Amino acid sequence: MQGRLAPSPTGVLHLGNARSFLLAWLDVRSRQGRMILRLEDLDGPRIRPEDIDKAIEDLQWLGLDWDEGPFLQTPRADRYQEVFTSLLKADLIYPCTCSRKDVESAASAPHPGDEGPVYPGTCRGRWKDPEAAAAEIGVELCWRFKVDSDLVVEWQDRFAGPRRVEVARELGDFVVWKREGGPSYQLAVVVDDADQGVDEVLRGDDLLPSTARQVLLWEFLGPSVPSFAHVPLVVGKDGRRLAKRHGDTTLALLREKGISSEEVTGLLASWSGLVEVPGPLRPCDLLDGFDLAKVPRDPVVWPGDWPSE
Ligand code: GLU
Repeated sequence: MQGRLAPSPTGVLHLGNARSFLLAWLDVRSRQGRMILRLEDLDGPRIRPEDIDKAIEDLQWLGLDWDEGPFLQTPRADRYQEVFTSLLKADLIYPCTCSRKDVESAASAPHPGDEGPVYPGTCRGRWKDPEAAAAEIGVELCWRFKVDSDLVVEWQDRFAGPRRVEVARELGDFVVWKREGGPSYQLAVVVDDADQGVDEVLRGDDLLPSTARQVLLWEFLGPSVPSFAHVPLVVGKDGRRLAKRHGDTTLALLREKGISSEEVTGLLASWSGLVEVPGPLRPCDLLDGFDLAKVPRDPVVWPGDWPSE
């Protein structure tokens, strides 16, 4: 079994991502699985090398480890291109000139509410081949994966339970290749997980809506669809996903305030139903008896301040 920590180094890690990474690590390590680290440096418009280093430092500070990596995505451009070519040959994708906004949103892992409207299929079947499309409109194109109208994707999510998505009706044809070139988040993540031998994916449930699309790409790429577990996010008191507006919950700031990584792990463990009261702990102290089923179903609410203050 092999899992992954796949941070997008678009900023420093905060308590929300830290909790998902801790759970991903515990879930795999408690079953003697292997872990890899992948920095999703395609996910986000401007990623600075120092952000990559900071993400690694934060994970290490927290006490998480991995057997392989860090892998980056940007050096794998040729591989993504190769998969794009095979999707094209298999006639599974088509060029599309629709809205820039729609296309741009494909660059990053989506956040809740980002899914946007279902793509109405405007460009499907519009040109007989990509050259004809490019000649006619003279602009760069994005590429969409064709979703059959009656296609249903089903999987058993290890945390969220059985899932059934009518992909054409709920999501529509989705972007796999961006207008400015390069794979969308959906394509890159599947190509990477497949190539890197990942068969256990535990991540925040903001990515639950992405999973049906990823299953379709997995079915094309193989070897077999991994097991997915989507856990609730940490939210602010307003119910929205933890972000800057909720105060600074970055690990870097907590560290600066003198809070130890063991105290952070203790808080994350109590949020995750793994201990009753937060107390200093290392991730490895939580391995024995770790059970994903103990993790509460509801989102965790960040109270706004570090509990001991
Ligand atoms: N890099 C993505 C994020 O941090 C996670 C992608 C994934 O787990 O599939 O939101």
